[in-house]
Amino acid sequence: MRKFPRIGIGGAVLSALVCVQAARAASQAGPAGRAPAPAGFSKYADIKKMLQDLVQTHRGNARLVDVGQSDSGDRIYGIEIGSGTVRNLVVGTHHGNEYGSTEVALGMARSLADKPIPGQTVYVIPVLNISGYDSNNRYEKAGSDYFDPNRDYPGPCGTAGPFRLKSTKALADFVATQGIVASATLHTFYPAVVYPWGISSQDLSTPYDDLFKSLGQMATRESQYPVGNSTQLIYPADGTYEDFAFWQHGVWSMLFELGKSHSPSKPEAEKMVAVNVPGIRRLLENSPRERATDHAFRGRCDTRLRVLDRHDE
Ligand SMILES: [Zn+2]
Repeated sequence: MRKFPRIGIGGAVLSALVCVQAARAASQAGPAGRAPAPAGFSKYADIKKMLQDLVQTHRGNARLVDVGQSDSGDRIYGIEIGSGTVRNLVVGTHHGNEYGSTEVALGMARSLADKPIPGQTVYVIPVLNISGYDSNNRYEKAGSDYFDPNRDYPGPCGTAGPFRLKSTKALADFVATQGIVASATLHTFYPAVVYPWGISSQDLSTPYDDLFKSLGQMATRESQYPVGNSTQLIYPADGTYEDFAFWQHGVWSMLFELGKSHSPSKPEAEKMVAVNVPGIRRLLENSPRERATDHAFRGRCDTRLRVLDRHDE
């Protein structure tokens, strides 16, 4: 069994971290992130066209789904694949600059359209943060402000939101109305595959740690990514989709920090697809067919840990 160090930070370290984190947040939050997308990657209009083409070529297996309106004015599209009663979900690009996550989501959609999972309907949403994707920005624009979409959900130890973005509200409503049972959310980079709790707390266990670990191991057979608790393996973050979906609904939610760069070359992105799509399929195939029942958070929040959230994965 993998052991992780317990988190403990002293006052001096904390105050230094506060300064570093504040400077980093200020440098990332605004239009400064508008660098051109890496060479060879698409705009959201192209992603929409790819989904439409996939539906055209896989009639019977795949249908286009409108998840809701984005603050950009675009509709957020996904693809519904298969016809089973268990409904699972794959979401890419909460963070607009994480191009590898979009590619792996599209790879997953193609794989599922070719061969749906028996007994399941799987929804794949390749791009949640449309304005961020089109401008190579982690953050998503709403009015004149920018928000981190994966801090915009309600959570047991707080949130930077909730729901200041239409995209996150649309996804939360989608999870509720569709009765999603398991989900894989795709990010870059670290690499790692992590499970709840990922919040500002020293009490990080759920009754399902062993199940989450075993699902993570199945998901990483090809990639060999480390598997663990989100707070301990990466950093604590309040208001993420993963903790929200488990805490609110008992969704078996796992987060993939894919690859080693936010801007992979096309060959690197292809490798990320090749080593992750089989594992994500295996994760969905082996997840429980019903939601978790014991998903309340009974620990204590430790707000001092918030400064460890780097907002960069
Ligand atoms: Zn991310």
